[in-house]
Amino acid sequence: MHHYGNKIIDESRQGEALMLESEGHKKLYIESYGCQMNFSDSEIVASILAGEGYSTTKNPEDADLVLLNTCSIREKAEQTVRNRLSHLQYLKKTKPDVKIGVLGCMAERIKDKLLDEEKLVDLVVGPDAYRDLPELLKEVNDGRKAVNVILSKEETYGDINPVRLGGNGISAFISIMRGCDNMCTFCVVPFTRGRERSRNPQSIIEEAVQLQDAGYKEITLLGQNVDSYLWYGGGLKKDFAKASEIARASAVRFAELLRRVAEAVPGMRIRFSTSNPQDMTADVLHTIAEYPNICKYIHLPVQSGSSRILKAMNRGHTREQYMELIEKIRSIIPDCGLSHDMIAGFPGETEEDHQDTLSLMEFVKYDFGYMFKYSERPGTYAARHLRDDVPDEVKTRRLNEIIDLQQKHSLFRNQQYIGKTVEVLVEGTSRKSEDHWFGRTTQNTVVVFPKEQAKPGDRVWVTVEYCTSATLLGKLASLSC
Ligand code: SAM
Repeated sequence: MHHYGNKIIDESRQGEALMLESEGHKKLYIESYGCQMNFSDSEIVASILAGEGYSTTKNPEDADLVLLNTCSIREKAEQTVRNRLSHLQYLKKTKPDVKIGVLGCMAERIKDKLLDEEKLVDLVVGPDAYRDLPELLKEVNDGRKAVNVILSKEETYGDINPVRLGGNGISAFISIMRGCDNMCTFCVVPFTRGRERSRNPQSIIEEAVQLQDAGYKEITLLGQNVDSYLWYGGGLKKDFAKASEIARASAVRFAELLRRVAEAVPGMRIRFSTSNPQDMTADVLHTIAEYPNICKYIHLPVQSGSSRILKAMNRGHTREQYMELIEKIRSIIPDCGLSHDMIAGFPGETEEDHQDTLSLMEFVKYDFGYMFKYSERPGTYAARHLRDDVPDEVKTRRLNEIIDLQQKHSLFRNQQYIGKTVEVLVEGTSRKSEDHWFGRTTQNTVVVFPKEQAKPGDRVWVTVEYCTSATLLGKLASLSC
């Protein structure tokens, strides 16, 4: 993946070992790959296994159980995990009893291969089966291989309080829905994570309040398609029409959830990800504008600027409709930060389609973006019906043009802040300098400034003095917001 600017799929965190310092007689080592949902799921897994006496370790050699929470979104992600699994086999030489398992999106796709053919793992557990882990571990410890990749209609892990792993104690994720029904023709998510279902809003609010009480300052509401959030008492979104009249009348949608969360934790910043253009409604935009604690930032993947390709991707909107949505966002939330996901070289993409992508980017001038080469995923509509016919060197060239343009736009957007004083939530020490803090503006732009009296968790005002395309640099103007 290539991104410019801020991070959603954080390359530097891929394969990060998440860890919780606590006492427990068995040791769990868990590595996470892919999107924020996966990192959030690992916290649910750690919570379930804490109930079984596992504490986490940062060292795989100390572990009794080694788990990789995997990603299938592109071929490269799967290859990384396979290489890692092969490498981890050395653990069995010195500690034959250690168990190795695969969680997450690769589970369903390659369970047979991993378990039987290559014999790389003892345990394979899909994203909806984590509650079954204690039972599956018993089977494994009795010397059997254990698998559960069943996708659920109801599972949202709503009642499980995730243990917060590897975080900064300031920002945390709250998962609000699972699965995806959008069936974009390139995307493996509906197959690996199942159909869309939403979590009880009450349990979301309780989790937000607990995080606030624990001193957290920012939450990100997570889902593959948050604008499609729909709570009507539980169950799949696609079964909503079959629900009782009263259940349908009292349903909670995303705008209402945002409003309730914003009011429940007024001192916290609220973010959300990911939005799908076709499901984003004006009431969500008005809610963002209305509540000062909801961040003025929308990650709005578009994937292509060509209506022809958008149709082939089954994105449910045209280039013009997306542009109208951008204009609506700018009129309702004038200072809104915007980012995108873009795919270069989808089957059938011509030079003209690619130019449409560049001109759409020129129209929006996104603050940052996440940019990928198309990767054919087995089982998707595109893999079954469309030929992956854009040569790799053409995909690479188009991707580079997209990245170069994004870099230009990121710099342009950041330059608009020079001389202005912006509100920053301080997250920690800058990666490049011990003497500087880094934090983010409401638009999700990274700001770096000399530490002085500020500390992590503070919301401060920083006057921006200069910038790069990735970062605003400035000095502290005032300590309290
Ligand atoms: N639900 C979001 C959406 O589609 O709007 C994000 C889902 S996905 C986890 C994150 C991004 O990965 C997508 O927005 C898309 O740009 C990229 N992606 C998904 N499938 C891909 C594929 N087959 N090849 C290349 N990139 C892909």
